Amino acid sequence: MAADCIVGAQWGDEGKGKVIDYFARAADYVVRWAGGGNAGHTIILPDGRKFVLHLLPAGVFHEGVVNVLGAGVVLDPWLVLEELRALEEVGLQVPPERLRISLRAHLVLPWHKALDQARERVAEKDAIGTTGKGIGPCYEDKAARRGLRLAELVSGKSLAPILEPLAREKNLLLRELYGADPIDPAQVEASLGEVRERLLPFVDDGGALLRKALGEGRKILFEGAQGILLDLDHGTYPYVTSSSASSGGVFSGTGIPFSALDRVIGVAKAYTTRVGEGPFPSELQGPPGERLRKAGGEFGATTGRPRRCGWLDCAALRYALSLAGAEEMVLTKLDVLSGQGPLKILAAYEGLDRFPASAGEVGGLRPRYEEMEGWDEPLAGVRSFRDLPGPARDYVARVEELTGVRISMVSVGPGREEVFPR
Ligand code: GDP
Repeated sequence: MAADCIVGAQWGDEGKGKVIDYFARAADYVVRWAGGGNAGHTIILPDGRKFVLHLLPAGVFHEGVVNVLGAGVVLDPWLVLEELRALEEVGLQVPPERLRISLRAHLVLPWHKALDQARERVAEKDAIGTTGKGIGPCYEDKAARRGLRLAELVSGKSLAPILEPLAREKNLLLRELYGADPIDPAQVEASLGEVRERLLPFVDDGGALLRKALGEGRKILFEGAQGILLDLDHGTYPYVTSSSASSGGVFSGTGIPFSALDRVIGVAKAYTTRVGEGPFPSELQGPPGERLRKAGGEFGATTGRPRRCGWLDCAALRYALSLAGAEEMVLTKLDVLSGQGPLKILAAYEGLDRFPASAGEVGGLRPRYEEMEGWDEPLAGVRSFRDLPGPARDYVARVEELTGVRISMVSVGPGREEVFPR
């Protein structure tokens, strides 16, 4: 068996897109197991063009790679077609044999998006900071066993028995609780009928496909979305995403046995960012945080929101890597730390021998920092570990010591080639 999993080891936005793109060159299959159009993987093509994928796996950029959206993904059927069209516009055709979508994937419907946005609007200061793409509400309906899956859409049967009860409940909430407009189920069904025809060629039994591929010794790459600390069960609840973002989700979200996974690779940024609300012990307020945000271009790929920035939190990283079973990691955006002055690393939380289980617990944390020498040289042209400035090499080594996990690769720029082995 030959399956690797790449997973963000922080709160998302670690630069997974580029890392997955790098590993996808050697893969036969690239597979997403969870989340939906709330991801924002940025890939810089060899000709310098920048492309942001929200739903499609990053293997779409590699001919010969079959891309799979697993059963654990929530699929916005309009968005997937829009993304395929956007790829076509830049000259990239993704034929059905290169994109397989699980029959068991749940569909994100207009009510899900409307509710997501209405709730965030009403919650204001208590908002989770979702991307407003309807992901959470879609997973709610999945867990409540009233969701609409691709299997039902392609069956060709009337969707009214599913859509009408959904509409009754959701429209009541929209109207009465949030003062928003109701959505007509007949219109949704008609619109779904249009996308159905176009989606049909892509639909597959994703689990069966992958188990067969494993049996044939094909190379599979599992592509994580969001990050381990946003995992529904093990992340910083309630400021998490609504799915199993850690590597544990691979099995339930795709239908492969756990024995199939060879290797988990964590992706971590050389500092920490967080988008939306929730605990962030090493956050830098004011000008130092702004300096990091500006240097790292830390604005959401999906929402454009400024990300909160802070020092690298090795206590959180150690927890995340051990949770996901990652024995190696890729450290990205080391170049962003050039010229940031003396650097700090959060080494541990004083008096706490485990990662806090609730957002409330984080308030009382006393982070212990280590100060490290910074460097001023830009790293953009560096292509080997040896050529990094001494303090940058020391920084990498200290992160390995503090997390107990080997850094196998270092990334020093957004481009495909700006990465080298440790
Ligand atoms: P993802 O959600 O984890 O895939 O994160 P994004 O794709 O949003 O990545 C973050 C941003 O950082 C993107 O604009 C990437 O092009 C960029 N990026 C990735 N790696 C590096 C790096 O090593 N250095 C710099 N400066 N930018 C990077």
